Amino acid sequence: DAGTLREVHSFARIFGIETEYGVSVTGADAPCDASQTAMMMFQPIIASARSTNTYIENGSRLYLDVGSHPEYATSEACDPMDALAVDAAGELVMRDLALDAQQRLRSTHGAHATVHVFKNNVDSAGHSFGCHENYLVRRFVPLEVIEHELLPFLITRQLFTGAGRVTKSGFQITQRADFLDEAVSSATTRSRPMVNTRDEPHADPDAFRRLHVIIGDSNRSQWATMMKLATTHLVLCVIEQAGREGRESGFSRFAFADASAANRAVSRDMSGVTASFDMADGSTLQGGAVAMQERYLQAVEQFVDEHPEVASSLPRTDVHDVIRQWRNALEIFRSGNVDALSDKVDWVCKHRLFEALRTRSGGNITQRKLEQLDLDYHDVANGALYDSLLRRGTLHSLIGDWQAQEARTTPPADTRAALRGRFVGAAKAYGAQYSCDWTRLSLQSPQKMDMVLLDPFQCEGNEDFQAMLDALA
Ligand code: ATP
Ligand code: MG
Ligand code: MG
Repeated sequence: DAGTLREVHSFARIFGIETEYGVSVTGADAPCDASQTAMMMFQPIIASARSTNTYIENGSRLYLDVGSHPEYATSEACDPMDALAVDAAGELVMRDLALDAQQRLRSTHGAHATVHVFKNNVDSAGHSFGCHENYLVRRFVPLEVIEHELLPFLITRQLFTGAGRVTKSGFQITQRADFLDEAVSSATTRSRPMVNTRDEPHADPDAFRRLHVIIGDSNRSQWATMMKLATTHLVLCVIEQAGREGRESGFSRFAFADASAANRAVSRDMSGVTASFDMADGSTLQGGAVAMQERYLQAVEQFVDEHPEVASSLPRTDVHDVIRQWRNALEIFRSGNVDALSDKVDWVCKHRLFEALRTRSGGNITQRKLEQLDLDYHDVANGALYDSLLRRGTLHSLIGDWQAQEARTTPPADTRAALRGRFVGAAKAYGAQYSCDWTRLSLQSPQKMDMVLLDPFQCEGNEDFQAMLDALA
């Protein structure tokens, strides 16, 4: 349908973030385990959608699998800032579900029952859960190549995207290094869980793949969310262009001998410059994660110089500014003054705060207290720490509260999420029975109608779409 297809930038990207949340209840008179709590949160969803799997008015997916981790998957975005806004909206959605469940819970479990919803990656039972990033990539680059060339970047990127965690054996940069051994090491074997191996592009399978990155932490820092998407996008541009031209990107030289060991080393080197890595080619890389990041940064800078059109690949984010901030972060690690990143990087913010508390208490603060504060930072429902850090400007934010609020009902305008969002809005207002998928809109009543949205960049309705809206008028 020529009327719905528009020219798409050759370096255009679709971004999506799936976040699993951890839940728990404290202060209750009677026990309420995580899966009961999650179920209570989803009762209003089940009442209206007759399912624990639904799409909401901003085009995002809200669902609860078997188990106890509610998940929110952001609608498709062309720009990291849009993905950030929709992700922030997800925190508000989870908060409201939790506070509503809390109110009901208090009638049966006592007036002090408190529902916590953690945007982190490890629960109190020591189970790890994920934050997946999704990137639309062009089909001509084999997944194995992307994985191989991207993994050293993803592992060392955690310097500025790690969410940090208080563990029994000390503070770590990432939430999950201790859990991801398997995932990272097998990235070189057949099971490859660093990226999901299912081939579900949610788009034209002849043209696209969906890269599914699973080794990242959930971020509360908005800067970290934006930067992880934007820098990964730029590295992917280099890899894709090499594929387009049928040559090597040059990144295969960056492979670690043991990705799992490298991951653990990065997570424990808070200087960013001390760890050394055994490389796949037999050499040793000194200079920590920073040294690896500098290699990628340099390649990206050169690439953007040679391909100025990359600068306009993100409609609302200045690529040159991303590169400048990336360089600046690495320079800060080089200078040894890591605390200078405490208003942007989750783990640095937490670490600095916990060290200050430790000093102030004369070393008397307990491990348990630190673990509680760590959790509080990630609690989107009843946490106090993160909000107070934002209010005091100790933590930098990129979007305002009102933007996150607005993104609850307003999907990104330049992807098919715009159509999905309008459809969901109209179906809800009508009281219709409907369902969605990333590539499909279906109406069961008042009329049976179906529409396929295979192109994630399609944002203008066609006749079929109009007919569906008319049926809901
Ligand atoms: P599950 O969680 O059940 O394993 P999944 O990982 O396949 O499923 P979802 O949780 O449904 O996926 O989330 C899919 C994510 O991918 C969303 O954030 C969405 O915006 C994003 N997405 C959808 N289409 C594309 C696409 N063509 N390219 C990249 N990302 C996409
Ligand atoms: Mg998912
Ligand atoms: Mg997933």
